[in-house]
Amino acid sequence: MQQITAEPIPSKYGDWFSAKTDAIGNRLIWKFAKPILRMQLPFPIVSFTFDDFPETAATIGAVILEEASVRGTFFVSGSKAGGVHDGQKMASAENCKELVKRGHELGCHTFSHKKLRRLSKRELEDELNANRKFLKDVGVTSKEVNFAFPYNAAWPGSRSVLRRHFATCRAAGENVNTDLIDPLMLKAVEIHAGRDINAHLMPWIDRVVSSNGWLIFFSHDVQDNPSPYGCSTAVLRELVSSAIGKGCHILPVRDALKLISQ
Ligand SMILES: [Zn+2]
Repeated sequence: MQQITAEPIPSKYGDWFSAKTDAIGNRLIWKFAKPILRMQLPFPIVSFTFDDFPETAATIGAVILEEASVRGTFFVSGSKAGGVHDGQKMASAENCKELVKRGHELGCHTFSHKKLRRLSKRELEDELNANRKFLKDVGVTSKEVNFAFPYNAAWPGSRSVLRRHFATCRAAGENVNTDLIDPLMLKAVEIHAGRDINAHLMPWIDRVVSSNGWLIFFSHDVQDNPSPYGCSTAVLRELVSSAIGKGCHILPVRDALKLISQ
């Protein structure tokens, strides 16, 4: 008799439900933010951050930033390093070492890129410790590490653990950080291939200039024809040039935080 094994059946309804839960959760989550740090900046700041992150973010994105004499923040999930994810070749440990040498910041994105609401505190600790080891192995010596939530899905239940590990945590939130901020729930604006630069992205630079705040962009791959989650080389170049032209300082998260905490 044939053995029947119970395999999980891919369910588009399951995916839909999970995506809806995330979308609702990612909106409601801001009610749990604790705005405790007052920002008084001498100039508007823009940070370019890259999640997961594909090799092209390290080989193309980082170079575009360097051509403008600025640096970025790359949030890595160590388990993905050197592999292929969603058709993208992911940055290797060597790419990560190179970025550190060239003055970019590496941040934590959990080791296995898991949603925090699905992890117990113990499991989350294990994830963060595993990724801390990866970061150490590629040359990150600073104890002050910054974090980005996988899937931008912040989770109040993980706050006590995250506070012990990180200086800041970045979600999405589609807004500029101004006035009173919660360092454990920083807001960010996504750059993805479906967003028109003039209609959807440039206005954020005008907004950060007028509010003298801190705008954090996030994306994934950087190439001429990016994935749906990525940023084109032309868009990244134009955003960098526009931000500098309008008087913004482009800083990695760690350096922006130093200015804010002064
Ligand atoms: Zn991610």
